[in-house]
Amino acid sequence: MTVTGATRVGAVIGDPVAHSLSPIIHNAAFAATGFDATFVALPVRPADLGAAIAGVRALDLLGLSVTMPHKAAVISHLDDVRHEAAALSAVNCVVRDGGRLVGTNTDGAGFVDALTAASVDLVGTRVLVLGAGGAARAVVRALVDAGVAEVGVANRTTEKAEAAVLLGGRDARVAEVDDAPDYDVIVNATSVGMGVAAAAAVVPLPADRLRDGHVVVDLVYEPVETGLLAAARAVGAQAVDGVGMLVHQAAHAFTLWTGLPAPVAVMDGAAREALQPKT
Ligand code: NAP
Repeated sequence: MTVTGATRVGAVIGDPVAHSLSPIIHNAAFAATGFDATFVALPVRPADLGAAIAGVRALDLLGLSVTMPHKAAVISHLDDVRHEAAALSAVNCVVRDGGRLVGTNTDGAGFVDALTAASVDLVGTRVLVLGAGGAARAVVRALVDAGVAEVGVANRTTEKAEAAVLLGGRDARVAEVDDAPDYDVIVNATSVGMGVAAAAAVVPLPADRLRDGHVVVDLVYEPVETGLLAAARAVGAQAVDGVGMLVHQAAHAFTLWTGLPAPVAVMDGAAREALQPKT
């Protein structure tokens, strides 16, 4: 694309942020739709967050993605926060609404859309979420909204599991990884397996807890094929990788910023190409 005087700028802020795939995914979407914008990654130290958000206003940026460690702290610098982000105390997307900056969270919707794209019908299912950090909390809330029958949350630190369960209301409870055979869908929302080749078989639950008939979702997307997904396939379970959620949460952000339908297949292709192991 040609950057002109009319080209808008969107950005992801984080610390660190150089590893972010958001520029690759959003620039592919801008190119595919002809929307005149470009997307960059901007490192922002925690102490500079307020100044950075003032800069978003002053520079009239198209919108922001927000990643660690700013997802909670950014809230106090915004004009408004939508209910999904307020419930999670975490913003991953900032949208302009006239002169106002509004925070939202697209992780939960992205997760549900990724499962829909993988032909998984969540209604009435029992889902075990492994982990209770930011990603797990977004998933727990989205699952209950999607009409699952029950959400179990199993986490190394029980107090955090108890806090995550509160987001799921009466359909959520604290669980153990050993309960996995009783569930229909297993979601790894821990960071176990991140950056580890599948062959190393680093998995967040004993592999003998997986069975044929499970849907196993790994939110870890680097590597795309994790030890957990390999173990799931080995027992005949359906394996859903983390790229889908990554792409679909970005697709929601793209639509919020541009008003256009997101070119999801193009965004997915760009993410998967970037995640291919380097030889
Ligand atoms: P986080 O807030 O730091 O939470 C990390 C979670 O992993 C906590 O529940 C933590 O348990 C657990 N954990 C870490 N190491 C563990 C270990 N050795 N054994 C057992 N549990 C362990 O991180 P997050 O933002 O939720 O992200 C979690 C993962 O999801 C990351 O891999 C991230 O890349 C991925 N993610 C993917 C997407 C996507 O779009 N696909 C979106 C968001 C996140 P404790 O509470 O006991 O510490």
